[in-house]
Amino acid sequence: FVLIQRWLCGKDGTYMTMLIDGKAISMQIKDELKQKAAELKAKGINVTLAVIQVGDNPASCVYVRNKKKGCGYIGIGSLSYELPEETSQEELLNLIRELNERDDVNGILVQLPLPSHIDEDTVIKAIDPLKDVDGFHPQSVGALCIGQSGFVSCTPAGIIQLLKRSNIDIAGKECVVLGRSNIVGKPMSLLLLRENATVTIAHSRTKNLKEVTQRADILVAAVGKPKMITKDYVKKGVVVVDVGINRDENNKLCGDVDFDDVEPVCSAITPVPGGVGPMTIAMLLHNCIESVSLKV
Ligand code: NAP
Repeated sequence: FVLIQRWLCGKDGTYMTMLIDGKAISMQIKDELKQKAAELKAKGINVTLAVIQVGDNPASCVYVRNKKKGCGYIGIGSLSYELPEETSQEELLNLIRELNERDDVNGILVQLPLPSHIDEDTVIKAIDPLKDVDGFHPQSVGALCIGQSGFVSCTPAGIIQLLKRSNIDIAGKECVVLGRSNIVGKPMSLLLLRENATVTIAHSRTKNLKEVTQRADILVAAVGKPKMITKDYVKKGVVVVDVGINRDENNKLCGDVDFDDVEPVCSAITPVPGGVGPMTIAMLLHNCIESVSLKV
């Protein structure tokens, strides 16, 4: 017992924490996809992602640029539509309808957020579910819920890959997902359930939050509150996945987890940056390659 304890814990009783390296794992996935793209090309199948951006939100510009760069890296095509802020909803819907019809376009991505005069739900619903590489269409979400094939939202899909490729077992584990957004929290909990975890979803109306999060073997924090999760929210040996992308009081990038405080008691943790972030684009590229098999 002492030997096992020494192996698991450092001298001072803190854990030998595994740092989950999202940069390295996303690179591994991109290299696998590069190979798959080359195999498809050899069979005469070219994969192309259409990326639509409305307006010039600086964060969106960075995301869109990285997505196109990712396509270039794995060797698939990308079409870029940079529309002015004043584009009407009807004009955007017309472009989506045109791209839905085009056989040479496999995936369609509309960068969010959209300007306030455009209804995001209407736009997402207009995308052909067979080209919905973001996995936001109600049909994709419904398919995930009932265990049918379809595109899965990229960030939660990336988190499953982070855990699996770090040899962290999910089946039978107590998983707590903090946050219930449509793009992270909800699909995350469905994916963990699909992996046979026992899942709790917590949110701003959850009572006794610390008691709930302390139950977690695996805690996924997706609240959007800088460094909210301190060590009194977790039990010793927990695996912590930090989805948050925030700025701290010094304008430095930080997660929803107070890394320095929590890291010593974790068995594994994702850093910010370099944890979940790089996985989102890798899984988007995965979905683009996947679109070929969903189509046939
Ligand atoms: P969101 O839509 O704002 O949802 C936040 C969730 O957290 C909500 O469900 C909210 O509960 C809950 N919440 C807020 N304050 C809370 C509190 N004090 N206690 C308990 N629950 C609380 O955010 P999101 O889009 O899911 O994003 C979450 C974070 O992940 C953000 O920092 C975002 O930037 C980041 N993110 C990162 C990636 C990536 O690629 N790494 C991708 C997407 C998002 P209610 O539902 O009750 O309001």
